[in-house]
Amino acid sequence: MKRPTTREAVRIAVAKGDGIGPEIMNATLSILQAAKANLQIEEIEVGEKVYLNGNSSGIEDEAWNVIRESKVFLKAPITTPQGGGYKSLNVTMRKSLGLYANVRPCGSYFPHIHTKHPDMDVVIIRENEEDLYAGIEHQQTDEVVQCLKLITRPGCEKIVRYAFEYARHYNRKKVSCFIKDNIMKHTDGLFHEVFREIAREYPDIESDSWIVDIGSARLAATPEIFDVIVMPNLYGDIVSDIAAEISGSVGLAGTANIGEQCAMFEAIHGSAPDIAGKDMANPSGLLKAAVLMLNHIGQTEVAERIQNAWLKTIEDGIHTADIFKKESSKKLVGTTEFAREVIQRL
Ligand code: NAD
Repeated sequence: MKRPTTREAVRIAVAKGDGIGPEIMNATLSILQAAKANLQIEEIEVGEKVYLNGNSSGIEDEAWNVIRESKVFLKAPITTPQGGGYKSLNVTMRKSLGLYANVRPCGSYFPHIHTKHPDMDVVIIRENEEDLYAGIEHQQTDEVVQCLKLITRPGCEKIVRYAFEYARHYNRKKVSCFIKDNIMKHTDGLFHEVFREIAREYPDIESDSWIVDIGSARLAATPEIFDVIVMPNLYGDIVSDIAAEISGSVGLAGTANIGEQCAMFEAIHGSAPDIAGKDMANPSGLLKAAVLMLNHIGQTEVAERIQNAWLKTIEDGIHTADIFKKESSKKLVGTTEFAREVIQRL
């Protein structure tokens, strides 16, 4: 899945998004440039401006072409206008580009970032195309609406195999499955059945299964008992935000959306309109996504330099407001200054 290292600049599509998007993207791009990532950046517009210009999909055809040709997309969060008529562009992209695996690493940086879970090191692998996100929603009558939960055997096989291959590749010991098959016997039942089948092909990796409610409760209380966790789309969306938040902040986690042809990298959080334009957002989630992207395109040395510089910045107590704590932080910085501090440590 990873591309070989190349001397040629790798073409990537970049969207600055909405809300805090432009601030955290500018911070991330300044770090990528200072670290001499070998990239040919093509900026595209997606999100609110496109929606409000009358395009209810949030993306123009030309932008689709750039993403499909470059095959690598670094995307800042976007705002989906509330109300009917607007589709979630994030969901459309994952489905249209066949980005079936959403990989969300959530680890602790204790004692530098405050968390109750110093030994937490969890990777959530979320199925990204099916489930209640398949987009099959109907108005049945004036008083009844319906959303169909779609789970397929090929979809389950792809994501579960991806989780076990990921565990093997990154030397992780256990893959857990979160499902609710005591209630959704057919849909979650199929996901669980496929999990058990594929787990047998990986005797070197421990496996276990949890009903999603108690699994989530355990994850919130004792995340250190989990390693890689694979789950259907909706549970993965919810559980990964919780995991990022309890590791220190939702602003800390980046994510890779992986498909056979394309890959999209983003922060797990949204456009945070409450702090937009204030230069106070934590750019770490998007920067982590950029590091995942560099590894994906084979620029592993640059990825490591950026990751180390970021870690040193955090260890030196240079913290944005979301992770600032008197006991463990030294200096409160905004988005731009945080990026400058990372660049100084490259
Ligand atoms: P959000 O993730 O934007 O914000 C939730 C809370 O976390 C807010 O208090 C915010 O200030 C804080 N936060 C988020 N990112 C932060 C960061 N980097 N640094 C510091 N604090 C941070 O969730 P929301 O408010 O529910 O959603 C806002 C908009 O984002 C909505 O339109 C939603 O549809 C969209 N959204 C987009 C994506 C995406 O583009 N991938 C993902 C989730 C939500």
